[in-house]
Amino acid sequence: MRAVAVFPAEKKIKVVDHPEPRRERETDVLLEMLDVGVCGTDREIARFDYGTPPAGADYLVLGHESLGRVLEVGSDVTRVERGDLVVTMVRRPCGHADCRSCAAGRQDFCFTGDFTERGINGRHGFMTEKVVDDHQYMHVVSPELREVGVLVEPLTIAEKALIQVWDVQERLPWTVAGQAEGDGHGQRAVVLGAGPVGLLGALALIIRGFDTWVYSLEAEGSPKAKWVESVGGHYASGKTTSLEQLKDKVGNIDLVYEATGAVAVSFHALSVLGTNGVFIFTGVPGRKGPIELEGDDLMRNMVLSNQLVFGTVNAGPDAFEASVADLARFYGRWPEQVKALITGRFTPEQAEDLLIGPPSGIKRVVTFAELG
Ligand SMILES: [Zn+2]
Ligand SMILES: [Zn+2]
Repeated sequence: MRAVAVFPAEKKIKVVDHPEPRRERETDVLLEMLDVGVCGTDREIARFDYGTPPAGADYLVLGHESLGRVLEVGSDVTRVERGDLVVTMVRRPCGHADCRSCAAGRQDFCFTGDFTERGINGRHGFMTEKVVDDHQYMHVVSPELREVGVLVEPLTIAEKALIQVWDVQERLPWTVAGQAEGDGHGQRAVVLGAGPVGLLGALALIIRGFDTWVYSLEAEGSPKAKWVESVGGHYASGKTTSLEQLKDKVGNIDLVYEATGAVAVSFHALSVLGTNGVFIFTGVPGRKGPIELEGDDLMRNMVLSNQLVFGTVNAGPDAFEASVADLARFYGRWPEQVKALITGRFTPEQAEDLLIGPPSGIKRVVTFAELG
């Protein structure tokens, strides 16, 4: 069967004839892949910055953002049924007995760093026709989400972040979770960056009632700015609005969701975070050399304003469940805007262009089956 693979030793990307996987255990599920999203991580692997084939293989099948349909289930499979649409989780435990997070099924918090990840590190990914995995890693998506279900995995980044935000913000008893208007009602959020992670994060904040601003480089009045406004958010361009001016427009910034990987603007945004605010880092910067920071101002502000800063990566089962539920809510409320996040569907043979060509659009998808 066809698979899109990277060959790190040869520095090549090819469509290969990959052996069909078989179910080996009674908890295994065979999926036909429908859609596989391409993101910055795939593009970095395609630049050979990282990405490790499974032991003994000379290539790695790419793809970690997936939507598949169940073809066959083993006799002990309980979580999915034949015909279900499913999204499969990416990370697998490190296997060290003393890694308490992995032992608890929370490899997204792995201590050792020896975890594996499908399509990234030590395991083949989903950019292929068929996939086998254990049902415990699969999350069922309703059939109405066929066209957009591939967005579940990139949305899990925001979902894991927001689960942690409610944990830490329990320190603020007046921001009571579960208000009728949404948990974020009365709070103001700023999203840095208008890529898929940022825009999905903005939807997650808006649907919780946050007054949400997206701050990015595209001009005010650009298609992305209009998209943000069409879902009830506000947009400010980094080209024409400084972060200090943004702070004046927004008021007290209760939450910053960083989704750029850009170091200078992110730390600058930390300096405008409001009283009792939370700052969430999700971007992984490249190594670009040191930047200058107003360390005393940052530290003073963090202490005197009771601020919290945390980074978050990958996602656990709770975030996948929340992502599936939220994507359905987004799609019910803003169907056209959610569909517009997917800016192109491509054949596996076109995948190399998506991986090494100039980035464009929002989320581009490699598709193995027609819609419908
Ligand atoms: Zn991704
Ligand atoms: Zn671990």
